[in-house]
Amino acid sequence: MSTKDWIEKDYYATLGVQKSASSDEIKKSYRKRARESHPDHNPGDSGAEERFKDVSEAYAVLGDEAKRREYDEMRSLFGSGQFRRNARGPGGPGGQPFDVSDLFGGAAGGGDRRFGGAGFQDLFSSIFSGGGGAGGPARARGPAKGRDIETEVALDFGDAVRGVTLPLTLRAPGICDTCAGSGAKPGTSPVTCQVCHGAGVTTRNQGSFSFSEPCRNCQGVGTVVEEKCPECHGTGGVTKTRTLNVRFPAGVADGQRIRLNGRGEPGERGGPAGDLYVHVKVRPDELFGRTGDDLTLTVPITFPEAVLGTDLRVPTLDGTVTLRVPPGTPSGRVLRARGKGVVRRDGKAGDLLVTLDVVVPAGVSDEARAALEAFAEQTPPAAREHLDARVRRFS
Ligand SMILES: [Zn+2]
Ligand SMILES: [Zn+2]
Repeated sequence: MSTKDWIEKDYYATLGVQKSASSDEIKKSYRKRARESHPDHNPGDSGAEERFKDVSEAYAVLGDEAKRREYDEMRSLFGSGQFRRNARGPGGPGGQPFDVSDLFGGAAGGGDRRFGGAGFQDLFSSIFSGGGGAGGPARARGPAKGRDIETEVALDFGDAVRGVTLPLTLRAPGICDTCAGSGAKPGTSPVTCQVCHGAGVTTRNQGSFSFSEPCRNCQGVGTVVEEKCPECHGTGGVTKTRTLNVRFPAGVADGQRIRLNGRGEPGERGGPAGDLYVHVKVRPDELFGRTGDDLTLTVPITFPEAVLGTDLRVPTLDGTVTLRVPPGTPSGRVLRARGKGVVRRDGKAGDLLVTLDVVVPAGVSDEARAALEAFAEQTPPAAREHLDARVRRFS
């Protein structure tokens, strides 16, 4: 059995068990498969003999807690590129010349799926080029920033325009109060790990390679909790329901994201907390629309109002404003009420943009019809000469 075997062979698949299988499940599955493929039960079947060998080999590793752990680690370490060449260089302890293609057989360039599609060649060039990217040696786990949390809030249109402070209830991991996050039972404290002496990292030689890996005993922390906190079972964290008062500034827009520094998950081992991101949804208003800092409103007017002009009293978000419609105003004209839009943080405000929509009545009284006909007599034809020329071409 070699490094190559371990990296190339999926013993879990050979035994037909999940990677998370218990040792009992592994034993059971092994017995069943060994029985089925036993040469005594399959005389003259060379395939069965091969299967029996494979099953035995797989069980020799997975059936042994220590070997299984090593096998898992070898495969996960190799998969993530987290290993480096031994300082002694090519030629391991046995004095054999180091040969990549020998170690990995014909698989070079094949792009094994188990390694995320990266060919062995790529993997090696990145490992041997000095460990850029994923190829670096494992490091002790120092303080780590907590994870960011994202949440979503729906605001009323007016609240978004004016700004609002709302209580936000979050269920998210927080620091255990009982042990203040240390994970140790109150009155005790974590002790230095005896295996790595606090470094958080151990080094192990494997053929031509040495593996730097997070210490198994302390999971890379460097300290070990001997008596676990009863509240958080040694993790230092608990799920908490928190209520935060979040201030949404005036003019916050639909789709905007607000970041609250340090309001995310607590950091690990003394690291800073993550951030809280609040995604803002703004419920549409039944009257007003919004374009940037301007509010928009559509107001229907009659034809006589457009022709003769009028004063219009229209609502703003917080009151009313009177707008002058000058005589001869076309449909679609936009009137501007300055400063009646979104008031920004710097005190400047957008405008209220009022679009006039001349409505045409579906029917009119006899008197109105007579008046309109008289009006039509007095009305010069619409300016359509430029269209008429084109129309004549087809007649
Ligand atoms: Zn340790
Ligand atoms: Zn605790």
